Parts: sequence; C-alpha cells; structure tokens
Amino acid sequence: MTRENVDVLIAGGGFAGLTLAVALRQALGPSFAVTVADPALGKSHADDERASAIVAAARRLFETLGVWDAVSEQAQPILDMVVTDSRLDDAMRPVFLTFAGEVEPGEPFAHMIENRFLVAALAAKAKEIGVELRSAAVSDITPPPERGRLASEARRVGVSARTDPSPDRLRRSDPPLSGEGAGVRALLSDGTEVFTRLLAAADGARSQIRQSAGIATHGWTYDQSAIVTTVGHGRDHGGRAEEHFLPAGPFAILPLKGNRSSIVWTEAKGEAERIVALPDEAFHAELEQRFKLHLGEINTVGARRVHPLGFFVARAFIAERIALVGDAAHVIHPIAGQGLNMGLKDVAALAEVIVDAARLGLDPGSATVLERYQRWRRFDTVTMGIATDGLNRLFSNRSDVLRLARDVGLGLVDRVPNLKRLFIREAAGLVGDVPKLLRGEML
Ligand SMILES: Cc1cc2nc3c(=O)[nH]c(=O)nc-3n(C[C@H](O)[C@H](O)[C@H](O)COP(=O)(O)OP(=O)(O)OC[C@H]3O[C@@H](n4cnc5c(N)ncnc54)[C@H](O)[C@@H]3O)c2cc1C
Repeated sequence: MTRENVDVLIAGGGFAGLTLAVALRQALGPSFAVTVADPALGKSHADDERASAIVAAARRLFETLGVWDAVSEQAQPILDMVVTDSRLDDAMRPVFLTFAGEVEPGEPFAHMIENRFLVAALAAKAKEIGVELRSAAVSDITPPPERGRLASEARRVGVSARTDPSPDRLRRSDPPLSGEGAGVRALLSDGTEVFTRLLAAADGARSQIRQSAGIATHGWTYDQSAIVTTVGHGRDHGGRAEEHFLPAGPFAILPLKGNRSSIVWTEAKGEAERIVALPDEAFHAELEQRFKLHLGEINTVGARRVHPLGFFVARAFIAERIALVGDAAHVIHPIAGQGLNMGLKDVAALAEVIVDAARLGLDPGSATVLERYQRWRRFDTVTMGIATDGLNRLFSNRSDVLRLARDVGLGLVDRVPNLKRLFIREAAGLVGDVPKLLRGEML
C-alpha cells in the first residue's frame, strides 16, 4: 500500500473541491501539499445538462483565481430579469418585478454558464498549477487520536489541554506529518493511504465523509422535483432571465450563449416524473405551454433530467480535522439559483482561514482555525436556507390570498429603487461579511 502525507486532502472534485484546491495552491505554493480525490475526475461531463447562475461575487473569485478567462466566451451575462406570478392557463402573465442586471457600472449581477465548461476550466487550472489530482474515491477515514495526542503534548509542555484555549500553541513546532497517528487517515479507492492535517469534504449532498464524521443534518425533502433541460429558440433572449411563478413552483428561463436557454422547471414530484417520461412531442407541448412563444418557436430540446429537491444544513460544518464545504454542508431549493454560490462562499472563507493560519506557521487543521470557518459560514447558511425555503412555500401554492399578498410585496420592491438595489447586491453575493476572494482580492 502506498502512503502519502499531505497538508489538505479534498474529497470531491466538483465546483467546491476544485475551487478550494486552486485557491490554496495559488496562495501557498508548492510547499503546501494539496490533493483532490474524486472518481469522476478526468471523466466527461458532457451529459450534464445543468447550467448555473454565477453571481458577481463568484465571478470575481474565478477572475482572481485566473479561471474566468477560460470560460468568459461561454458565459452569458444576465442583463435583466423579470418575475411573473400567474396560473398555468392564464392568458397573460403580468410582470411584478424587474431587475436591471448591473451591480456596478459594466458588471452584470450574474452570468449563466453550463456546469461542464466551468468544472473543466477549474480542473485544467488545478492541473496547470500542480494540484495533485487523483481519480479515486475517499473510501474510508479514521479520525486522529486527537485527545490522546493533545494530552501527551500538553504534558510535554506542562499545560492542561482541556483549559488551554489555543490548541495551536501546542502545535506550532509540530514536526511535518510523518505517518500513522498524525492527522486524519483516509483510504483512497486506488489503495493509497493518505495522512492529512485537514480533510475537506466537498463530496456533495450525500457526503460519505459527513456521515463517517457522525455529523447529522437538519432539513427535509420537498414534494417537488426540478426538470432541467436546454432549449434552442427562434429569437434572441437579449440576456433576459425570466422566473415565472406558477402554482406547482417556479419555471425559470435562463439565457445561455446563442439563442439558447437553460430551463429549470419545478413540478410536484410525481408530475415531474410523468412529464419527463413523455414522448418528445408531448414533452414539447408541456414545455411550450409554460415557455410561451415570445422567444419564437422552440427548435431544439436537449436531454431532460429530473433532480429531486430538498433542503438541509449540516448540524456542524466541522469535526476534528474535517471541514464540510458546498453541498456536503448544505443543499437549498434552486428557486433563487444560490446553491453553488453559497458553496463558493464556504470555499472562499475556508481558503482564507487556512491561508491565514499557514502563513503564521499554525496548523491549518486545528480546532481554532476550523471554528473560525464555522462561525463565519454556518449562521449565514442557515439564514439563506430558511429564506429560500420561505420563498418556495410562499410561491409554490394555489392560494389566492397568498398570491395577492406576494404580488403586493413584489410590486412594492419594484417601486423602491434603494430596496431593489439592496436585493440585487444581496443576490450578487456582495452584502455581509464577504471573504476576500469574493471581493476580488488575492489571498
Ligand atoms: C436543478 C438545479 C439547478 C441549480 N442551479 C443553480 C444555480 O443556478 N446557481 C447556483 O449557485 N447553484 C445552483 N444549483 C446548485 C448547484 O448545482 C450545487 O450547489 C453545486 O453543484 C454543488 O457543488 P459541489 O462541488 O458542492 O458538489 P457536487 O457538484 O455534487 O460535487 C461533488 C463531487 O464529489 C464527488 N464524490 C462523491 N463522493 C466522493 C467520495 N467518497 N470521494 C471523493 N469524491 C466523491 C462526486 O463525484 C462529485 O464530483 C442548482 C441545483 C439544482 C439541483
């Protein structure tokens, strides 16, 4: 069995894992060893129909990491957005809210990009700057014998490990990792045994690492699924995004480069399964009933996929020498297109606390460092998760009373320019305690 020691092992090479790897490697250079392990690395993502709204803050991060240039050709700026609220068979869809899409002059509030382009660009950047990429799963982890180790070190330096508020002080002169007992031990599916000072779990919503670390989640599944597909249409969308609130849930038309749009179409679970299994012609008819004809005829329809929807937040974002990021830590309803953007905020915050610690010669996996990360991200995540859940409950129903209430609310927001501006900046990820990378600053 091959054995390796690394500073940070990242389980998962999706958006979150690869972005974290690139950020750490760029800030800390080759002397700080970062490995990403994911069985899907190197495999084609050609069948991934999903596209994501990358908000301004996330674009600043990708620009700072030198990834944006590689995808800017494929990224469609969202220039404005309209929100409607109607029944499925209403002849007219009154517009209740409009957003002009700039957060700063010349800076759109978001771009739409197909997931496969962005993941490929991140993997290429990680490879170019020397991140170790392993096409293997993290299949087993053994936590560090931390308490025993702390206690014995405490005895060595003559303090009590329980009462010392700064475990880092005990570790500043740690020797480099050297085999069993130092850090988390992770077994990869290719047979490699890795010892790491920090294991970052970026292994998605069903995170095995989260489960192995015994971290429970709060949340629920929705009786809704999202049908995702890409359509080609006769007319130019002009960079306009549309969110049509229908009784079964939001139907979003999100502009892609060319006369194409990404569709995220929420339906009750059983109905979504039924619709997606329809023959092409019948599926087209259902789609057109919601899409309408203002962008001309729908001339192509890509592969259709159904994604069951849920909401959860991990009870803790950290365990001993483990940090959760991205969907491993939280999953929210796609109604506001914020799931990945929240994951990137985790990544930017975690990278910042690790880099700050490493530059001071501190242990990047210590409790002090990880608690700083958790304080930064967990409350913000819970707030956003609850807001998104509330939005979905408010809009995905057939109640005329609620409909009236929300339409008055939307109309109000539409008429107050400062409130609208705040909404746009919030949606663009530029409000609150924003990590450096999301402000466009190097670590
Ligand atoms: C319909 C829909 C539309 C959405 N639209 C948007 C949007 O517009 N904007 C937005 O911000 N977000 C959006 N989201 C959310 C966004 O897609 C996710 O938040 C994002 O993809 C999560 O990225 P991640 O890297 O955390 O996880 P993932 O992309 O799930 O990556 C996890 C990776 O971990 C790997 N893995 C799994 N197990 C292991 C293991 N044991 N060892 C090693 N590797 C492992 C997997 O192979 C995978 O590559 C949407 C979600 C849905 C369902």
